[in-house]
Amino acid sequence: MKNKTPELTFIFPKGEKGTDDFFTGNAYPTALVDEDSIYNTLVGNVYFEPKARTKWHSHPAGQILIITDGIGYHQIEGKSIEIIKKGDVIKCPPNVKHWHGASAETGMQQLYIIPNTEKGIVEWNEKVTEEEYLK
Ligand code: MN
Repeated sequence: MKNKTPELTFIFPKGEKGTDDFFTGNAYPTALVDEDSIYNTLVGNVYFEPKARTKWHSHPAGQILIITDGIGYHQIEGKSIEIIKKGDVIKCPPNVKHWHGASAETGMQQLYIIPNTEKGIVEWNEKVTEEEYLK
């Protein structure tokens, strides 16, 4: 297997391609820390190839994103798309509908942290359309 996408150097195992139930395009989520009796926290990595993104979704306890490579987009419902890039840290507040993914030209690599998993992890909504993505 290749150990790179065109722009990204892999830090963590690439994992399997994420399902169409959660993503559009080629996204590769990998769990790094599972919740257990001590840590009510999930940590994982996602590699997004260019144009890949999550569906619209929200997190009952919020989510922290740490961008470790590339360039991507993040959008909160009702607001403009925000460019995110290597080194950015983004807090997604609880129950705020949003999506995140790669830019159209460049892939993006992100760590996610979901705290307080006893409140819930993620609630999935509809796909981000091409029209929404390219705005
Ligand atoms: Mn999210």
